[in-house]
Amino acid sequence: MDSFEERISRAVRLIGNAGRITAFTGAGISTESGISDFRSTGGIWARYRIVTYQEFIASHEARVEYWHMKHELFSELKDARPNRAHYALAELERMGRLTCLVTQNIDGLHQDAGSSRVIEIHGTNRKAVCLGCGNLWPIEEIQMRVKEEGFEPRCEKCRGFIKPATVSFGQPMPEQEMARAHDCAVRCDLFIMIGSSLQVEPAASLPREAHRSGAGLIYANRTETPTDSLAAVVFREGAGDVMESLLERIRQ
Ligand SMILES: [Zn+2]
Repeated sequence: MDSFEERISRAVRLIGNAGRITAFTGAGISTESGISDFRSTGGIWARYRIVTYQEFIASHEARVEYWHMKHELFSELKDARPNRAHYALAELERMGRLTCLVTQNIDGLHQDAGSSRVIEIHGTNRKAVCLGCGNLWPIEEIQMRVKEEGFEPRCEKCRGFIKPATVSFGQPMPEQEMARAHDCAVRCDLFIMIGSSLQVEPAASLPREAHRSGAGLIYANRTETPTDSLAAVVFREGAGDVMESLLERIRQ
């Protein structure tokens, strides 16, 4: 692998030559903000099992278990702040250099950093939704109700189950967001992937689709991915270091 500086130079040239740039982020971009990937060991994920969407719909016990997990997660995440990589992407957008920002993350840190056009393909933990009528609430409001009224919040209007507005295991991906993400992948000429191990479909196919449509790929991820060989530049360094170095050079 070439030196960090050489790879930064190559990536900066690709960014300079690109008309439409799509960034795609996964859990790895938020680890420097203290948010652990659910795949990593320890912490909250070791104490709770995964409740699927089907279980959530079907069983009172599963809903209570799920809300207990989400409640504990909420207190763990509510102080998380964006890091250098989030801010760099927001800055690229302000400079008019970023066309699309697609994320697998549900933490809302891109918006906190100032990114305005974020496509959240796994939904968001910042809102809660009624599965009956689609009504939305700020998550703080429902977390407060959970604490005071019990761990199975219901919609006042339709008595439907309320769930954080994230895509659970077993739940279909949001069609509109997936269509927009696909569009961003096939219409860009540079696709920058940050912090995803590209293990989960359909997200994993986005860089493949971008590559097939002629886009260059830049990958920044701590571990190997199944499509590293397609990428023009691969970084194993931390997302903050990579994005900060890129931004510094682009500003010059
Ligand atoms: Zn409702």
